[in-house]
Amino acid sequence: MSSARKKTKPQTFDATIIGGGMVGLTAAIGLARHGFEVAVIDRGPIGDLTAVEYDGRASALAFATCRMLEALGIWAHMEPFAQPINEIRVSDGPSLMHLHFDHKALGDGPLGNMVENRHTRLALFKRIEELENISLFMASSIATVETSQEESRVTLEGGDVICAKVLVGADGRNSMVRKKAAIPVSTFEYKQHGIVCSIEHELAHQGIAHERFLPSGPFAILPLTGNRASLVWTEKSHLVDTIMGLSDRSFTAEVQRRVGDFLGEVKPVGGRWAYPLTLQYADTYTDNRLVILGDAAHGIHPIAGQGLNLGLRDVAALVETLSNAATVGLDIGSEQALATYTQWRHTDNASLISVTDLLNRLFSNDVAPVRVARDIGLAAVEQVQPLKNFFMSHARGTVGELPKLLQGELVQ
Ligand SMILES: Cc1cc2nc3c(=O)[nH]c(=O)nc-3n(C[C@H](O)[C@H](O)[C@H](O)COP(=O)(O)OP(=O)(O)OC[C@H]3O[C@@H](n4cnc5c(N)ncnc54)[C@H](O)[C@@H]3O)c2cc1C
Repeated sequence: MSSARKKTKPQTFDATIIGGGMVGLTAAIGLARHGFEVAVIDRGPIGDLTAVEYDGRASALAFATCRMLEALGIWAHMEPFAQPINEIRVSDGPSLMHLHFDHKALGDGPLGNMVENRHTRLALFKRIEELENISLFMASSIATVETSQEESRVTLEGGDVICAKVLVGADGRNSMVRKKAAIPVSTFEYKQHGIVCSIEHELAHQGIAHERFLPSGPFAILPLTGNRASLVWTEKSHLVDTIMGLSDRSFTAEVQRRVGDFLGEVKPVGGRWAYPLTLQYADTYTDNRLVILGDAAHGIHPIAGQGLNLGLRDVAALVETLSNAATVGLDIGSEQALATYTQWRHTDNASLISVTDLLNRLFSNDVAPVRVARDIGLAAVEQVQPLKNFFMSHARGTVGELPKLLQGELVQ
């Protein structure tokens, strides 16, 4: 901390959000649309956070998540880059057993949309430009974070002092806010990495997402706009450096071998990324005048493409909780207001965390009895349409006690 830091007058907000990732920025927009004054602090400059090389991933956004983005005025900036997911096909390696989910069975829009994270971030910053009650403190290093009975107070290295009724930690898996509050967190290393790249392909994908369970882990082929797809290739961690170091020619051959020939000739485009995969969940989501959400609260395996969706469900619940508290004259940083948020989100997150963890364990191995059992399971689900509809409703994010935003409505 520099002793020569300039002194500035504290600036006061309703909420200070640390972390301007996809969850933090959506939270800022959600709170601002409900009349709150919001500050967002991120260590990255906007140019870096939206650069092509920053994040090579595309996210499967559930139908309900897209409804929320629409209600917040964000979707209009994303829609040109969104590829509807009409069907999902799940198969177990070379086995003939498979599961097929078709949105037509529910007859109410696609299962979700694929959008490249870079376009989502650009859309969020565009939407923020349209709103007057969000102040961005980008490329900022935090000197101190304090919370008292009255307020939260963040001091930046440059000298700015940002006070608010509530501090929101949306600062990702290594959350400084979570650590500052000493919230215990459980972590499990999967010893797997998610290798991510985009491909161009010869034949149309028809909006079909494919999930193949290979012995090293799931391999997902996710449709993007045009004749393009995003791949998430789960691989054992000790093999990842070798794969990332392959020549373009050898990498293309490995990708083609895994994708097969149903898309014709495929060509990786625009770089490769590798993300270590861990399971992480915090014991609680709140502390004195402080709340955590998104990956700061829970990080899950990408097997079902649900991590960001969960974070955005946190946002919807937080916006509703704080709006309702303000309407009845409650202090939005009070224990009472924040407890409602934790209760709402903890159970929903815990159940999805267990399901994704179980799926990965079940499908990331080649032990014969397990393989036979899961193939019988796949075949059984495939035969029972109501069960398939149940899984599809989960994939669309329309199950459970949905906050208003996930129903496509503002809180009031
Ligand atoms: C391979 C892979 C594929 C995935 N696919 C999907 C998918 O299809 N669908 C889906 O729903 N989810 C998916 N996910 C999960 C999803 O990407 C994450 O859940 C999501 O990005 C988390 O967003 P976040 O905003 O919570 O955290 P982050 O994206 O980690 O953002 C945190 C922000 O906080 C800032 N920050 C951190 N520390 C500080 C600090 N001390 N001071 C200031 N700023 C700070 C960072 O700069 C960053 O901008 C996938 C994950 C992986 C690994």
